[in-house]
Amino acid sequence: MAMAGEDCKEEIRLLRQQVEILQARVRELEAARRQQLTASQKTTQSQPPWTCEICTYENTGVSPECAICHSAKNNQRWVCHVCGFDNNELTNKCQVCESGNVSSRSHRIVCD
Ligand SMILES: [Zn+2]
Ligand SMILES: [Zn+2]
Repeated sequence: MAMAGEDCKEEIRLLRQQVEILQARVRELEAARRQQLTASQKTTQSQPPWTCEICTYENTGVSPECAICHSAKNNQRWVCHVCGFDNNELTNKCQVCESGNVSSRSHRIVCD
């Protein structure tokens, strides 16, 4: 009986070792899956979100039109180089800090 008890202990020890190996493998696979997920998220969300001018809904960068009112995405917006505000094409000055739109009149800076 004593021998059987020893066998049981040995078997339990081996099983626990296997469980530990499997748990480590599961952690490896989960980490790999997380990396894949973040990588695919990066590729699908490479474009920054844009705000609809009509209804101010914030759309994902990949959608060509507003998800709420179906207005076309305005590609002519410019981002202020000073404060980073997303300005309308029609404004020459930043709506927040009143800096000039450098991208549209950079060729005139010397004359100014
Ligand atoms: Zn909209
Ligand atoms: Zn600004």
